Order: sequence, then C-alpha cells, then structure tokens
Amino acid sequence: MSKGYLLGTVSVDRLALRPKDQYIELDIDLLRGERVVDLGLQERGAWLESGRKIQWDRLCVTAGSDVRRLEDFGDALYLRELRDAERLKALIDRREPLDIVGAGFIGCEVAAAARQRGCAVRVHEALTQPLLRVLGAELGGYLGEVHRRHGVDVRLNVESPPAAQGIRLVGVGSAPRTELAERAGLEVDRGIVVDELGRTSAPGVFAAGDVTRFFHPLLETRIRVEHFQTSQRQGFAVGRAMAGAAEPYHEVPWFWSDQYDLNLQYVGAGLPWDQTVTRGELGRPPFTQFYLDAGRLVAAAGINDHHTVARARRAMQARKELTVDQLADPRFDLRMAGR
Ligand SMILES: Cc1cc2nc3c(=O)[nH]c(=O)nc-3n(C[C@H](O)[C@H](O)[C@H](O)COP(=O)(O)OP(=O)(O)OC[C@H]3O[C@@H](n4cnc5c(N)ncnc54)[C@H](O)[C@@H]3O)c2cc1C
Repeated sequence: MSKGYLLGTVSVDRLALRPKDQYIELDIDLLRGERVVDLGLQERGAWLESGRKIQWDRLCVTAGSDVRRLEDFGDALYLRELRDAERLKALIDRREPLDIVGAGFIGCEVAAAARQRGCAVRVHEALTQPLLRVLGAELGGYLGEVHRRHGVDVRLNVESPPAAQGIRLVGVGSAPRTELAERAGLEVDRGIVVDELGRTSAPGVFAAGDVTRFFHPLLETRIRVEHFQTSQRQGFAVGRAMAGAAEPYHEVPWFWSDQYDLNLQYVGAGLPWDQTVTRGELGRPPFTQFYLDAGRLVAAAGINDHHTVARARRAMQARKELTVDQLADPRFDLRMAGR
C-alpha cells in the first residue's frame, strides 16, 4: 500500500493476503466487520460488538498495530488500512502537493512513490537523518540524499512542522493494539508478552504478529517486529503450537523496502549496535552495511545487494562468527563463514 499501489503498478485485488475462496477451501470462518470487544478469558467465550459470543478452546490474539497519531494534526492522513491508501492514491493521482511528517519507512516510501508520480513532496523529520533508528546516520544520510536528488524537500531536525502547503500525511510509527489483552489481564509490555511458542500469561491464550513482544531463542531476547514476513512466519509457528506442536519461531527477521530504483533489504531485529562495517562503497550501490554489537553481527542492510543480505542472514541464522575483515571484503564469500 505504500509502494506499488500508489505508483499504480499493483492493482487493489493484489493487496489481499489471500483470495476470499481460499478461506472457504481451508474451512476457515472469516467474520468480516465484526469487532471483538472482550476476549472472555473466564468463560472461554469472546464477545463481539454485535452481541454475539464465540466459544473457544484456544484463542490467538492477532490484533496487529495501529498508527501513532499526533495531536494537533486533526486533518492529516495516516496510512494503515486500504481506505487510507485509496484516499492517498487519489490525491497522488491528482498530483496534489504532499507534506509528509516522519521519514521512517512509510514516509520514505510514500515520498518516493509520490515524487515518481510527479507530486511536489516535502518531508519533515524530527531526527538528524531519515530512518536513523534502524539504519544509523550513514545509511540514513545516504537515503536522505537519494530523496533530495529526486527532488524531495527533506527537512531534518524539525521539532514541529510548519503549516502544510499540501496534504499532510503522518507516518510517525505505530503501536501494538493491546487494549483487549490489557483489559483481559494478560501480561503486556509494549506488546503482548509471549514466549517462543506464542503463549501468553494465560493458559490456552496465544498471540502472534505485530501485537506481540516475543522471545526469540536465537537472539536470546524479547523482540517486537512490525514486518509481514515475521508476522506470517511467527504466525505459522504459533498456529502449530496451538495445535500441539512445539516448533518455536527462530528465524532472524527480514524485510525489504523499495524507493525509486533502490531495493533495500534488511536482516535483523533493530537491536542496538556499536560498530558498522561497509562492504562495497557506501553511496554506490550495490553495497551492504553490517551492524555489530560487541563484535557480533546483529543486522545487515543492503542496497541493491540482496545476495549479500541473504548470505548474511544465513550466517546469522547459523550463528557463524564473522570478522570485520571478512565482512568488509567483497571477495570473501559469507557462505564460507565459520568453516
Ligand atoms: C502502509 C504499510 C506498509 C507496510 N509495508 C511493509 C513492508 O514493505 N514490509 C513489511 O515487512 N511490512 C510492512 N508493513 C507492516 C506489515 O503490514 C505488518 O507487519 C503486518 O501486517 C502485521 O500483521 P498482523 O497480522 O500482525 O497485523 P495486521 O496486519 O495489522 O492485522 C491485524 C488485524 O486485526 C484486526 N483487528 C484489530 N483489532 C480487532 C478487534 N478488536 N476485533 C477484530 N479484529 C481486530 C485489524 O482490523 C486487522 O485486520 C507495512 C504496514 C503498512 C501499514
């Protein structure tokens, strides 16, 4: 919804997770337009807004996340649901000027799509570089320059954006939808707290996806991830656990972002790092930046360099030791790590 759909290269029917018929084939009752208002932990029956009650043996909360809203931005657009994307696309189709608040992934992707469609775009970011928290100053700075080269007016260190010239789109992150879980008394700590099998603090109650902060056995810490590859793969593991299998989700999170002719791939969980190492020349794709913490590889971000990121991902998954020299040397095949 922030890339191909706005560009007009992906049609709306390709945005659905699955075609409707597949739910029938899989014998899944999909209740649309029905909001759960109470998980009903005591009586093992969840209440819907319509007054209907659904008995359950095991329950999984997958309420996802919602955009973080800014006060005083009453008329602004946010991008979370299809109707938001449709509204935004209509504005872009009319080449309306756009003021984007927040240079995170959503802000940057929308800026790129809108510029490519010929809109005037200004981006206002509170921090010193776009995507600073995830990618750091060097790569964030590079991406800021890319946007400038494409004609985006990138404004950094902005405490409060000035009056908008165009339509305002706010992309300042999201927060897990934990209200139901909190009301039900489940343990919540910036996400529903679950173990490596998706089990919450209540027996028979599981949670998966964006809404969870889950224990990751490989990274040995609890993480919350907002990417669909992770929410799907972790979802598979939690579904299996609900059916009695104990196969923890332990893949290193991975996602990509498309901006102009650049494809960024990232592997890692946004954990803190104290050193970066670049393979190739930063600013001249293809190149990859590695992030290390106390000498251990914790993330990699590649620009038009998916082979390197895929190999780094396998090395991280197998907990292979890699030296700074090996990471920096494009001739060193990361598949040979630790051999
Ligand atoms: C514009 C945009 C672009 C993105 N781009 C990328 C990308 O390029 N790559 C990537 O990896 N990730 C991307 N993401 C993130 C990705 O979409 C999420 O990580 C993923 O959708 C999370 O899946 P989920 O099932 O946990 O939650 P969601 O997809 O948020 O699904 C939660 C569902 O639960 C429903 N719900 C909530 N509360 C209730 C209730 N009380 N009763 C009934 N239903 C309820 C919601 O309506 C929603 O349908 C993007 C997100 C957005 C918004």
